[in-house]
Amino acid sequence: MSNFDQAPVLAAQGLSKSYKTGTLETQVLAHIDFALHRGETVAIVGASGSGKSTLLHCLGALDAPSSGQIQLMGKDPLACNETERGLMRNQHLGFVYQFHHLLPEFSAVENVAMPLLIRRMDKAAALKEAAAILARVGLSERSHHKPSEMSGGERQRTAIARALVTRPACVLADEPTGNLDRETAAGVFELVLELAKESGTGFVIVTHDPELAAKCGRMLRLSKTGLHAG
Ligand code: ADP
Ligand code: MG
Repeated sequence: MSNFDQAPVLAAQGLSKSYKTGTLETQVLAHIDFALHRGETVAIVGASGSGKSTLLHCLGALDAPSSGQIQLMGKDPLACNETERGLMRNQHLGFVYQFHHLLPEFSAVENVAMPLLIRRMDKAAALKEAAAILARVGLSERSHHKPSEMSGGERQRTAIARALVTRPACVLADEPTGNLDRETAAGVFELVLELAKESGTGFVIVTHDPELAAKCGRMLRLSKTGLHAG
């Protein structure tokens, strides 16, 4: 049975989002349909301001759409209360941003262990899992470095390890290589594609770079007319 015979890990139907500022209402997303299957890599491209970050926030249940439905592992996070929604995010999702958002006072391995500690995993076990995934992203020798003691590429690899340490169904990455030089960005992107393949985690990756986007399983373009194959 192929992956595509299975239910999507993350799906949305008819997602719309408008922002109200004073009397002005701006529609950012209009009737977006989306589905991501296990281990799939989907690139989302689109002009600056087209709503890519807004879409990821809605898909990740960090922000509520104005209308539409979402299913994360078959369950609607919008129908849950905030506590349940938080649990669903911790269980099924990982997030990677353009800026690493690592905690500056903690080492790489402690940062990676954080989502497991939030789950109340025993500290020794959490650090062991974190060390294993840091080794996978090639950072064994940086595990005791603080973010300020690492390069940009190393920080993003650490952020990716942190997103994957809980073995989520899906990682939402918002321009994860946007702050890196071309060569480093290509290396980090390759790593993401390998990790998706071997872990079965699906990735939704917003990127500005058409060459990197073309390496994903699918590319979708977000514009005023919606989200379309591109
Ligand atoms: P992208 O990530 O594609 O650059 P965004 O999703 O960040 O686009 O923003 C899409 C549009 O929504 C922009 O016009 C932006 O100004 C607007 N927007 C984003 N967040 C807010 C907000 N919290 N309040 C009002 N408008 C917003
Ligand atoms: Mg954005």
